[in-house]
Amino acid sequence: MELLKERILREASILTSDVLKLDGLLNHQVDPVLTMEMGREFARRFAEEKITKVITVESSGIPVSFAAALTLGVPLLFARRKKTLIADPEALSERVPSFTKGIVTDIMVSKEYLTASDRVLFIDDIIANGDAARGLIKIIERSGADLAGIGIVVEKSFQAGGRALREQGIRVESLVQIASLEGGKITFV
Ligand code: 5GP
Repeated sequence: MELLKERILREASILTSDVLKLDGLLNHQVDPVLTMEMGREFARRFAEEKITKVITVESSGIPVSFAAALTLGVPLLFARRKKTLIADPEALSERVPSFTKGIVTDIMVSKEYLTASDRVLFIDDIIANGDAARGLIKIIERSGADLAGIGIVVEKSFQAGGRALREQGIRVESLVQIASLEGGKITFV
């Protein structure tokens, strides 16, 4: 997606050689026009997949997932980051290490909204090592739902997440792939 590459070059900043700050586009502020373009692009790529639901993890995955769900005409379900230690028998949950925050969080999805009759498109903002994705994939598997594929806005291809998922046979579609952040420069694949 050339438009997204241009916006990243103009508005992102490099925090370290493996972390990109995307607050102006993805993680703090949202551009509705760009977000709708991204959502429509995911919807186009997965149009033939008979998706019944788009699923993401709160919070940065929500806007683009909403845009894709609106275009596909299906509901959006977002995994919540659990803030209670009380186990909910009606929820599926997984423990996920956070790449940027250096902490572990639990994500949960209610069994009521994800069932074996669903075929889901999982969308997320950024993939690094793939821990967040692996956590949600486990939840999807345990619900009995079918995973049609994963849509990622920014894949950092120099980290192993996207590659490992593809090696597992999962369809992963990224809008942009970043090859490197070395030398203070964003290099796309
Ligand atoms: P993973 O679980 O794949 O290692 O990391 C994915 C999550 O960590 C993303 O949902 C995102 O919130 C955060 N993350 C990973 N790398 C970056 C990065 O370079 N920049 C920002 N802003 N967030 C990142």
